[in-house]
Amino acid sequence: MSDTRKFLRRAAGLFLALALLLPLAGPGTVLEASAVTKAEIDALKGDANDLASQRKDIQNQLKAIQADKNAAINKKELIERQIQVIRQEINNINQQIAMYDQLIAEKTEELRQAEADEAAQFDLFCRRMRQMEEQGEVSYWAILFSSSSFSELLDNYMMIEEIIQYDNKVMEDLEALQAQVTVDRAALEEAQAEQEEAKQKQVAVQQELKEQENEVDKLIGEISAREDQLEEMEAELKKAANDLDAEIKRKEKEYADQIKNVVSESGFLWPLPAGQNTLTSFYGNREDPFTHKSKNHTGIDVSAPKGTPIYAAKSGVVTTSKLGSGSSWAYGEHVVLSHSDGTSTLYAHMSARNVTQGQTVKQGAVIGYVGTTGRSTGNHLHFEVRVHGDRRDPLSYFKDKTLYFSGKGGKIKVQ
Ligand SMILES: [Zn+2]
Repeated sequence: MSDTRKFLRRAAGLFLALALLLPLAGPGTVLEASAVTKAEIDALKGDANDLASQRKDIQNQLKAIQADKNAAINKKELIERQIQVIRQEINNINQQIAMYDQLIAEKTEELRQAEADEAAQFDLFCRRMRQMEEQGEVSYWAILFSSSSFSELLDNYMMIEEIIQYDNKVMEDLEALQAQVTVDRAALEEAQAEQEEAKQKQVAVQQELKEQENEVDKLIGEISAREDQLEEMEAELKKAANDLDAEIKRKEKEYADQIKNVVSESGFLWPLPAGQNTLTSFYGNREDPFTHKSKNHTGIDVSAPKGTPIYAAKSGVVTTSKLGSGSSWAYGEHVVLSHSDGTSTLYAHMSARNVTQGQTVKQGAVIGYVGTTGRSTGNHLHFEVRVHGDRRDPLSYFKDKTLYFSGKGGKIKVQ
């Protein structure tokens, strides 16, 4: 092999080696920088997945807790109804006891009256006898023997017997009454005692129910505290989204000189191919036409297949291009463009970004591709519009665009 050939071969080898190295290396430090970025991205992707599963966990816990709380509240309601019924039962028993009291008093009075009547009757009898004695008609015998004729004797005899019989009858009636009153009063007192016992039982049950109610109250209190804790965590996540408002304002100041040199168009370009015009979520608290549920949404969601190009809605400067982390993890891979008219546009959940921070882009330039990174359950573009850093309804800038909404109930034209 000649020296020339050797040299050529060596040169070719070197060229090949360089050709292999160059696309990776680029100019000097980029290799290092992109290697670090890749590692960082992987770490952040790991963080994002962790956070997403944490959030799902929290939501599941909230759901479970809500179910527990509802169960506890239902239990409390049932206990309260039970206590209410028992209270009525106790009232009823008290009324019965009061009635027995009254009946016993009446029976006692009946007896007292009968005894008084008998005493009066006996008194009358005694007085009559005394009267007879005073008139010299001392005894029954005297009355009988004082008879002047047989018919008078008979009359007198019958009168005496009548008096005796009458007196006996009064005594018998009184004895019967006394016996009846004793039986009645005993029965009433027994019934009253039974009612009293029933009342004590009901009072005990009421007490037990009140204890149960207190325990349920305590449980509801504990659940509410846990719920507050979880809601606080959710609020933290929401705050993270709000933090981006401040970051955009800050970056717009940082890039102010560059931004003002990019003329912005008067209108916004739809950020997706024309046919990708189906919304899955409105901005703000505009409710879902099917479920009638609303959430405080920071932008609009437009469904599109993974990899669909995303266009710059206006010419501007890329003020953010990153995989969300920390406070912005929910956005996943996202890009923010700041425009010289004071507006900014955000494109989130991308599968890949096509621009870097500080880059100037023309309206319609492909800045990234549709994906489902960050807080997302399917491929879609989450699009936000801000004016001087404050969020606006993006749809107010696309009044002429024909749009559909797709949800649980199907697909309908919304404008
Ligand atoms: Zn969204």
